Amino acid sequence: MKEKNRIEKENHLYIKFPAVPENERMARMIAAAFLTGMNPTLEELEDVKTAVSEAVTNCIIHAYDRKSDRSLKKEEVEMILFRKNQECHITITDYGKGIQNIKQAMEPLYTTKSEEERSGMGFSFMEAFMHELEVESDSGKGTTVRMMKRIGKPEIEISE
Ligand code: ATP
Ligand code: MG
Repeated sequence: MKEKNRIEKENHLYIKFPAVPENERMARMIAAAFLTGMNPTLEELEDVKTAVSEAVTNCIIHAYDRKSDRSLKKEEVEMILFRKNQECHITITDYGKGIQNIKQAMEPLYTTKSEEERSGMGFSFMEAFMHELEVESDSGKGTTVRMMKRIGKPEIEISE
């Protein structure tokens, strides 16, 4: 008798890197490489790369902009990628200054930098390109962004 079985697939990757500008590209490329195992469309790949780029850029430019107590913490970013079947879960964490008002920070066009510098659209892009977005932050301790994107169609195995 023929029956169809869904192939259960899990995978994960954890990286930690200094919060410096050149690592934004690296994080984006690593996320893309992780995703290729999930057979994404080009559009899905671009969406995830953009969301990762926005989240990591935020850690680099906002989280660690303190002038005084720079030596108190290591200026690092953590990225965890987790695949559960067709869901790609991405967690990006920094240990910087945190966000005081998350709701306000997530509003389109809201930025604490000058308008010439930033457009205040990072969170809006993450929200638009991913299926789930959740932000957690603790003042003075850091910020965690959790995102999820469903990729492609489930893989089906046909067995006799
Ligand atoms: P853009 O992303 O368009 O260049 P932006 O970074 O200012 O501009 P968002 O990414 O939407 O816009 O972020 C909104 C605001 O939230 C930022 O201006 C900043 O004040 C705050 N913020 C975002 N991420 C962090 C973070 N990791 N740590 C501290 N503050 C943050
Ligand atoms: Mg941003």
